[in-house]
Amino acid sequence: MSPNLSNILIIGGGFSGMTAAIQLSKLNYNIDLVEIDPNWRTDGAGISIGGATLRAFDTIGILDEFLEKGNAHNGLDVHAPHGLHLAHVPTPPMSDKIPGSAAIMRPELAKILAKKTRESNVNIRLGCTFENIVHKEDTVDVTFTDGTTKTYDLVIGADGVNSKVRKAVFPEAAEPKYVGQGVWRAVLPRLPEINNTHMWVGPRLKVGVNPMSKDDMYLFLTEDKEVKQREEKSEYVTRLKDLMMNFSAPAVQQLAGMLNNDSLIDFRALDNLLVPLPWFKNRVVMIGDTVHATTPHLASGACIGIEDAIVLAEELAQHDDVTVALEAYQNRRWERCKMVVENSGRLAQIEIEGGDKEEHTNIMRESMIALAKPI
Ligand SMILES: Cc1cc2nc3c(=O)[nH]c(=O)nc-3n(C[C@H](O)[C@H](O)[C@H](O)COP(=O)(O)OP(=O)(O)OC[C@H]3O[C@@H](n4cnc5c(N)ncnc54)[C@H](O)[C@@H]3O)c2cc1C
Repeated sequence: MSPNLSNILIIGGGFSGMTAAIQLSKLNYNIDLVEIDPNWRTDGAGISIGGATLRAFDTIGILDEFLEKGNAHNGLDVHAPHGLHLAHVPTPPMSDKIPGSAAIMRPELAKILAKKTRESNVNIRLGCTFENIVHKEDTVDVTFTDGTTKTYDLVIGADGVNSKVRKAVFPEAAEPKYVGQGVWRAVLPRLPEINNTHMWVGPRLKVGVNPMSKDDMYLFLTEDKEVKQREEKSEYVTRLKDLMMNFSAPAVQQLAGMLNNDSLIDFRALDNLLVPLPWFKNRVVMIGDTVHATTPHLASGACIGIEDAIVLAEELAQHDDVTVALEAYQNRRWERCKMVVENSGRLAQIEIEGGDKEEHTNIMRESMIALAKPI
């Protein structure tokens, strides 16, 4: 049933692009993947992973390796700034085999996916991107930065929130928008009592911790800032510790005391983006952050990008007409991706405005229930 595609190009080797390569190679297509970073490096601290993402890892075939390197757990505990326990949000296992939530070092996850991509039949070119895309009737001519050109039956744009593919193919699409909040992250030695995610929610700041291996956990803190700005690296430790002084909970005070120059502290201003349908033009289709970049409030950005790639491969396997498959892909993905971007944005807004904590907890709970549904 699958369409007769000789060559597929994937632009961008992040979580979404790598998953597309792995899943499409299972359909025996010839796949080229270009990644602009010559070292194919993923920076960053920890990444939280929900049950739906773990289910996607099972589909891709990396769940066992993930569970070896990361940390699976169940439930999220919400506390007041002085420590009072407010709520337990369950994250029930997806099945006997698939836990409800987890976390891992981001570079570790990238390594697992890159290994699986290399084991698939994919021609990977690092330090390379496209220069020019020319739509033909049923094909796309692509010129690359290394001077080569090639004709493809399908091009997949997976080059992230600041996508060059999106700018080339949908120049009218809106740019990512700053949401008025930034996130601090750090890596700390894991405390024995941290066995799942804990969050302390203040009037405007929120701090949390998540175990991501036997030895490590990562800390996050969201801070509202009216204007998008960078933070001075040399002041990271002091700034983050000062912010944590807003929480009198002994556990948060203990975490603040553990921070030092080796804690891999990072600050990122948060943007989001939801490109309206269509997500394809002729034979160029977009997946992942390229079309829906979310703030991390539901820890599901990677999830929906990875699911995009799985669904795209499923639809290509089911239809012999490419346009029908691309339409089916985008229609299956729209509501779910919109829910993640919009609910995450609403959570950010509640935090920025010091809004209703009950609404915050309810949105988290309802979103997790929605994410557990089949894709
Ligand atoms: C602060 C923060 C915390 C987050 N925390 C979580 C979390 O806990 N859980 C979660 O699920 N999600 C989280 N996310 C979201 C998640 O990181 C993204 O949704 C996910 O990385 C998207 O993957 P992607 O492959 O679509 O895009 P990207 O990860 O951006 O990958 C794009 C790839 O394309 C490459 N590239 C860029 N331009 C070009 C080009 N022109 N040509 C070729 N290659 C190119 C890049 O080098 C990169 O490898 C977080 C996001 C932020 C900002």
